[in-house]
Amino acid sequence: MTPSPVVGRILDALREVVGAQPVGLHEPNFSGNEWAYLKDCLDSTFVSSVGRYVDRFEADLAAFTGSGHAVAVVNGTAALHIALKLAGVEPGDEVLIPALTFVATANAVAYCGATPHLVDSEENTLGMDPQALRGYLRDMTEMRGGVCVNRETGRVIRAMVPMHTFGHPVDMDGILALSRDFRIAVVEDATESLGSTIQGRHAGTFGRMGVLSFNGNKVITTGGGGAILTDDAALARHAKHLTTTAKVPHRWAYFHDEIGYNYRMPNINAALGCAQLEQLPGFIASKRSLFARYRAAFSGISQARIFEEPAGSQSNYWLQTLVLDEANSGLRDELLQSTNDAGLMTRPIWELMSRLPPYQACPRMPLPVAESLVRRVVNLPSSVALATD
Ligand SMILES: *Cc1c(COP(=O)(O)O)cnc(C)c1O
Repeated sequence: MTPSPVVGRILDALREVVGAQPVGLHEPNFSGNEWAYLKDCLDSTFVSSVGRYVDRFEADLAAFTGSGHAVAVVNGTAALHIALKLAGVEPGDEVLIPALTFVATANAVAYCGATPHLVDSEENTLGMDPQALRGYLRDMTEMRGGVCVNRETGRVIRAMVPMHTFGHPVDMDGILALSRDFRIAVVEDATESLGSTIQGRHAGTFGRMGVLSFNGNKVITTGGGGAILTDDAALARHAKHLTTTAKVPHRWAYFHDEIGYNYRMPNINAALGCAQLEQLPGFIASKRSLFARYRAAFSGISQARIFEEPAGSQSNYWLQTLVLDEANSGLRDELLQSTNDAGLMTRPIWELMSRLPPYQACPRMPLPVAESLVRRVVNLPSSVALATD
C-alpha cells in the first residue's frame, strides 16, 4: 500500500534524520566507565544491598540535580509509591494526576489505597494544565479543617503529581500556586526529565519530593532503578528507612519499627548509574542536537510539528515528539504502521488513564486537550547514538 502524501513526506523527513537502517525508539548508550565500575563492583563482592556505589550514586544525583538529598530505589514506580506515602497519602484519599501519563503514576496512587483523580493537559507542555485545574478545583472542592475535600465524593485530595512529559517541564509556577491555595502536596513525577530544568532549576526539585527513573529506556539507565529527591533531611531519612525494610540500624538485631519495603537499589545497579551519570551532559547535548535536526527536516511539513521545549525551560528531549494537527489526526495509525514497517520504531503516546480498566471509574475533570493529544502525538526514534554532532 502506498502511503498517503502527508505520511510519505513524514517518512522522508524521518529518513533524512535517522537514515534508512532500522532504528529503535530509545537505545541505551554504554560508552563510559560502565565496564570498569561493574568489574570493580563484582571484585568487591558487594553487589547487593550494601556498597559504596549506592552512596556515591545518591551523592552524585543530589549534586547533579541540586537537590538536598537523593534516595536510590529499585525503580521509579517504587519511588513514586514511597514519595506519595511520605506526602501523607492514605487509603481513601484522592490524588490529582494527569490523565495522560504512563500507567505507573496511577498505579503508585492505587498502591497507597488512594484513588487517582484525572487532570487535563496543556497543549504547549503536554503536562497538567494548572489554569484549567484551578477553575475545576474552585467548583468541585471546599476546604475542611485545613484540607481540600472533593465535595462530590467527600474524599480528601491529598496530593498532586505533575509529570514532565518526555522531559518537557510542566508549568510548575502554576502548580505550586495551586498547591499553596488548595493545600495539596506536590510530588513531581520527574521520571522522564533527568537533566531538564525550569529557569535553571532542576525538574523534580520544586515539589516536596520528586521522583526519577533509570529504567532501560530512560535518558540514563541502571538496568532498573529510581530515586526520590527532596530538600528535607527528615523526609530523606524516612524514605531510606521505608525502602530498606524499616530496619533499625544495629550490627545484628532484626528490629523493624514499621511496615517497610524491600525497595533499595542494589549496588551493582548503582555502579552502572555512576558511569551513566558521568555521561549525562553529553547525552543531553546529543539529544538537543537531534531535536534541532528533526525540527529542520520537518520544517516544510505544515500538517505536523516537532514538539519544542516550553518557554523558560530546558528539556532533556528524552523522547522526540511529533504532533499532528487536528485535521490530520486520522493519519496517526497509518503513520505508525508505515514507520514501523520501514524499521523506524515509532510509538503513540499512552492511552488515557480513564480508558484503562482499573481506572475507568476514577473521578476526572473534562479532558478535551488530553483526548486530542492522544489522537495526535507520536514519538520518534530518540537514541543518543542518532545524533551526528
Ligand atoms: C518510566 C516512568 C515511570 C516509572 O518508572 P519505572 O522505573 O519504570 O518504574 C513512572 N512514570 C512515568 C511517567 C514514566 O515514564
